[in-house]
Amino acid sequence: MIVCACGAPFEVRRGRYVCATRRRKGTSVCTSSLTFDPDATENVFLDALEATVRS
Ligand SMILES: [Zn+2]
Repeated sequence: MIVCACGAPFEVRRGRYVCATRRRKGTSVCTSSLTFDPDATENVFLDALEATVRS
């Protein structure tokens, strides 16, 4: 399972992965703006995750 920096799992929304907490509770709860396309998951996700961890 893919997990956001906030600890919540990602879920598919309209064909893209998005943090479940961010989607349900808003950006005040999870500041991660990370979304990504399941078809291009591997490199995109790893790059984005790396950026999230650094920030
Ligand atoms: Zn999150």
